[in-house]
Amino acid sequence: MLETKTVLRASFLVCLAATALAQDSRTAFTVGTATAQRGQKAYGVLKVPAGVDAGYDIPVVVVNGANPGPVLAVFAGAHGSEYASIVAVENLITLVRPAEVSGTLVLVPIVNVPSFERMVPHVNPTDNKNMNRFYPGSPNGTQTERASYVITKEIVDRCDHLIDFHGGDLDENLRPYSYWTVTGNQKQDEESRAMVLAFGLDHIIISADRPKDPNASRFLENTASTRGKPSFTAEAGRSGPVSTNDVAVLVDGVQRVMGHLKMTRRVVQPVRNPVWIDTLITIAAEQDGVFHPAVDRDAHVTKGQKIGLVTDYLNRPLHEIFASDAGIVLFVRAVPSLKKGDTIASLGVVKK
Ligand SMILES: [Zn+2]
Repeated sequence: MLETKTVLRASFLVCLAATALAQDSRTAFTVGTATAQRGQKAYGVLKVPAGVDAGYDIPVVVVNGANPGPVLAVFAGAHGSEYASIVAVENLITLVRPAEVSGTLVLVPIVNVPSFERMVPHVNPTDNKNMNRFYPGSPNGTQTERASYVITKEIVDRCDHLIDFHGGDLDENLRPYSYWTVTGNQKQDEESRAMVLAFGLDHIIISADRPKDPNASRFLENTASTRGKPSFTAEAGRSGPVSTNDVAVLVDGVQRVMGHLKMTRRVVQPVRNPVWIDTLITIAAEQDGVFHPAVDRDAHVTKGQKIGLVTDYLNRPLHEIFASDAGIVLFVRAVPSLKKGDTIASLGVVKK
C-alpha cells in the first residue's frame, strides 16, 4: 500500500511538470553570453562582431521569471547621452526579482556604448549613424548596422513585446511622452494601445507613418511592431541631468506594463484621458547661429507665437522662429549652439 502511494505521487509530479513545460518550453533563456535558468537573473553581453570597423559588447541582463509567461524586452541608450532612460533600465536590473515574475524580462540599458562613453549625442561616433534608424540591420554593414542586426536576431525576433526608451538628448529640453504606433492590424494595435495606457505617461503621440516593411523597419520599436509584436516607445529626461522624477516614471511604467501583461501580480489602472497628439511639427534651423529660446518645454503655444530667436555669433538678429500651428512644445533646443539643419523645437498638435 505504501509503495503504491509513493508511485502515485511520483506520477502526479511528472504530470504537473509536463503541463508547465507544455505552456512554456523555455526552462532557460539565453541572450548573448547571458543564460538565466527559471527563477534566475543573468548578466552578460551581446557581442557585435568586428567587420568593416571594430566590434563591441552591448551589456544585457536576462531576468527569467520563476513562472512561464511572455518575453518583454526593454531597451535604452540607442542615443547614449539620453541619461534618464539609461539610468531607469539600470535601476530595473536591480529592482526586478525573478521570483516575482511570470515570463522573461530582457534588459538592455546602453545600446550605443560608444556614444555613452564619449558623450556624443544623436549618433554612434564609430560610424556617425543614428542607432535608431538602421533596423533590422545587416551583418555586413558598419558597426551601427551590425549592432542592429544582432539585436533584431537575438532579441526582437524572440520577444513578445518591446519597449524602447529615449529622452531629451544633450541638446533637447523635452517633456515626457509615449509613442503609440498604428500598424493597421487592429488586434495588435489594441494591445499596444493598452500597453501605452498601462505605462502611464499622459501625453501620447500617435504615429501612423512608420514603415510597414519588416525588412526596412528603421526604428527599433517598429522592428518589433512590423514583426507582429505589440510594442511602444517612451521618452523622459532631458539635456544631461538625471532627474529622479524622470527615472521614476520610466521605472514605474515598465512595472505597470508587466502588471498589465500578467508578468507580475500588480493590478494596474490605465492612464485616464491622456492628451493624444496626431501631428508633429519639427522646426529645423535654416542657418548656423546662436539660439535664444522664448518658450520652455511643455509650453502650450498659439499659432504665430514666438518660439525663439537666432542671432549670429555677435548677437545680431538673423531669424525669429514662430509656431506654424497651435500646439504643445514637446521639446525645445536646450543649448545656444545651432548648426543649419539642427532641430530647434518639436511641436505636438493635439488630436481634435
Ligand atoms: Zn533617443
